[in-house]
Amino acid sequence: MIAIDATHDPKLRSWVASANQAGCDFPIQNLPFGRFSHGADAAPRIGVAIGDRILDLRRAGLIDIDDMNALMAATPEKRSALRALISQGLAEGSARQAEWESALVGQSAATMHVPCRIGDYTDFYTSVHHATTVGKQFRPDNPLLPNYKWVPIGYHGRASSIVVSGQPIRRPRGQLKSPESVAPVLALSKRLDLELELGWFVGKGNSLGESIDIAEAENHLFGVALFNDWSARDIQGWEYQPLGPFLSKNFGSTLSPWVVTMEALAPFRAPFERPPGDPQPLPYLDDADNRAQGAFSISLEVLLQTVKMRDAGEAPVRLTHTNTTRAAYWTPAQLVAHHTVNGCNLQPGDLFGSGTLSGPEPDEAGSLMELTSGGKRPVTLPNGEQRSFLEDGDTLILRGYCEAPGAIRIGLGEALGTIEAS
Ligand code: MN
Repeated sequence: MIAIDATHDPKLRSWVASANQAGCDFPIQNLPFGRFSHGADAAPRIGVAIGDRILDLRRAGLIDIDDMNALMAATPEKRSALRALISQGLAEGSARQAEWESALVGQSAATMHVPCRIGDYTDFYTSVHHATTVGKQFRPDNPLLPNYKWVPIGYHGRASSIVVSGQPIRRPRGQLKSPESVAPVLALSKRLDLELELGWFVGKGNSLGESIDIAEAENHLFGVALFNDWSARDIQGWEYQPLGPFLSKNFGSTLSPWVVTMEALAPFRAPFERPPGDPQPLPYLDDADNRAQGAFSISLEVLLQTVKMRDAGEAPVRLTHTNTTRAAYWTPAQLVAHHTVNGCNLQPGDLFGSGTLSGPEPDEAGSLMELTSGGKRPVTLPNGEQRSFLEDGDTLILRGYCEAPGAIRIGLGEALGTIEAS
């Protein structure tokens, strides 16, 4: 597992002044990777966020590629070495300051892109609280299926419709069937929802036919971003049996632009624990390191701004908040070990959605479906508006950050999307 080193030193400060401000998502201890372009027709390049700026890695002389997937494929040793160079160069007193000042771009002046080419996207279902609450709505007498506590449940999603934060999401149409009607109709979804998730990016791949041992699993992960897996609940309710979600999910998903690396997450590890009475994982999903520190503590929140709020100049309001340690039943290493146990090959840039990260309390739910009990108990906003599901013009913002004693807070930035009328 990745060790805490000089790049995590809480005393470290950057000559980029905005990186030293309290509460900044991108202090020098973070250094997340993203793809940005600057100027009208410039091709995307690889950058690292520092304060409110981006360090252009090619202009800083650190890399000679623009292909994020190639960078993600590097061994953890090479990645750690690159992180050390970036950290040293951006640190206060660095001799590279004069040279690197010209390699900085303001984040507000840049266009961000999906961080890499996502070959394959798998969505997991790692919150037992989400699985139970949603299960109750779809199957009142049989909420949590018997495999849940043994198998990290997932399905293969679609990568082509994953967009970066800021892109609009068009309300999908699909087959809807109310319980009263005999036949479905083709119509716009009326039960459009969000899913508060994390997206774990695969780094180094594995060969077809070869499993990744849990002890090696994190060496195959590059990092994490925020992920909103927009979901049309009315389409989902009709189509999901027997093969799972399909068109209710693949009309769009929103990623935050900055990938916080496994290295940056090192100070925010947590033990992996099972509630008393729950089965212990099978041996291929279990080892001492995973038990001691296989989980990560990431605080998450979702904010909503309606058209009316925007017009009145009102800030987005928080709909929900939780922490991964309260929500996730499986660790990222377990997801990698499980996904490859049958010999399935992962490739650099593949994306694992965590599944909706709902905590145990009702106000910690990661979807409106849970927060409003399937639409039966709408949420009332401070301005008096109500929401059962999303309306056209609603803007949803996912945010995430990590805090731990003795460590500098780091953030994941945000994943923002606005529902566009069809
Ligand atoms: Mn999902």
